[in-house]
Amino acid sequence: MALKALDIFKLLPKTNCKKCGCPTCLAFAMKLAQKQANLDQCPDVTAEAKAQLEGSAAPPIRLVTIGTGNSKLEIGNETVMFRHEESFYHPPGIGVVIPDNLDDNELNARIEAVEKLQFVRVGAHIRSDIVAVENVSGQADPFAKTAAAVQKLDLPTVLMSKEPANIDKVLESCKDKRPLIYGASADNWEKYAAIAKEKQCPLAVSEADLDKLAALTEKVKAAGVEDIILDLTSAGISETLQALTAARQLALKKNVRSLGYPSLAISSSAQTAGEQVAECCTYIAKYAGIVLTGLHHPEYILPLLTLRQNLYTDPRKPIQVEPKLNQVGTVTTTSPLLITTNFSLTYYTVEGEVEASRIPSFIGAIDTDGTSVLTAFASDKLTAEKIAAFLKSDAVKDKVTHKKVIIPGYVAVMSGALEEESGWKVLVGPREASGLPKYLKTVWKSE
Ligand code: SF4
Repeated sequence: MALKALDIFKLLPKTNCKKCGCPTCLAFAMKLAQKQANLDQCPDVTAEAKAQLEGSAAPPIRLVTIGTGNSKLEIGNETVMFRHEESFYHPPGIGVVIPDNLDDNELNARIEAVEKLQFVRVGAHIRSDIVAVENVSGQADPFAKTAAAVQKLDLPTVLMSKEPANIDKVLESCKDKRPLIYGASADNWEKYAAIAKEKQCPLAVSEADLDKLAALTEKVKAAGVEDIILDLTSAGISETLQALTAARQLALKKNVRSLGYPSLAISSSAQTAGEQVAECCTYIAKYAGIVLTGLHHPEYILPLLTLRQNLYTDPRKPIQVEPKLNQVGTVTTTSPLLITTNFSLTYYTVEGEVEASRIPSFIGAIDTDGTSVLTAFASDKLTAEKIAAFLKSDAVKDKVTHKKVIIPGYVAVMSGALEEESGWKVLVGPREASGLPKYLKTVWKSE
């Protein structure tokens, strides 16, 4: 049974040394009780206390790292079934499977395509962040050659083979990169577990039946492999979704330790590209730690990365940009100045439209605690006084000399108060950001 924070606190060193990253031992105990910390973070806990705490303090879903250094993916350590209950913490790796039967030109082109699967969205860099090499040839040499070639991507790697000897051969040259070994099942797990233990790599185990999978992970763990990934790919999308959901429920709600590992799902290549995208989206939403696909074109991968980015933000904290005066293009003191809020989605939508207008402009992002224009206005976070204070600030006064400000059309009602408060001429912009290019080219130019 899970221990309460005070029970855990009694077993900690109580020195408040902060080495665990928490200000006090009590704070660390509370995090352990909420499964948001790992006992290993306290270096001074005694072996006796550790023995008592392990089990009850371990996260219900183990945190597993694939790769090393800057090229690593951490998955697992999730604590809730639904994002709105708290937050999802470790975004799933989204990766392309590269078969080892491509000729040199095809392989180079595929690697180049994967390299390009990175984008900037709402100010964040998002990318396909894991790559898998599949030993479809069944031979060791092409597998090793392909695995060596993908290293130039500098991404965490999955080595997929039905031949443990082929994995072993590849690991001779890249075990330091801690790739995920994929291929273990009920029939062959001993060989894979021996390799994973020796090379200190995480191991994926495949078994569609959850009872059998739980029995299998217990054996693999007893063989000395701690970092396990559950491959829950089943016959179809609904079966896989069911397995992903049931494994998560059993780990979180029933504390089934043998299923307390992150999971993996692979989209079926026997479908259209659109169906594969839908399948991958399903697994990203519920509850895969790694989603692999043969798709490698940006138009298929961007929706997956976008969905992941949206789901793996903390619903308790709106995504914000720094509230400040921003410049788009080569501005001068006569460039237009637009006002918006510091809610990322709002800000980057405005910025994108201003860029599209090709008219260098200033954008003032007002601190509204990351809320959008109407929400901020309704809650008095976007007021005439606040904008006036911004216009009078040092950040603005030497940069903009025309003393005209464009406010969002939705808050036109504050025009009079803002003119009075600031002494600036207030221009009412369009309600929607999409109207900005036309507005800047016509209304602003005629001002
Ligand atoms: Fe307490 Fe251990 Fe954290 Fe130090 S590292 S504050 S002893 S829990």
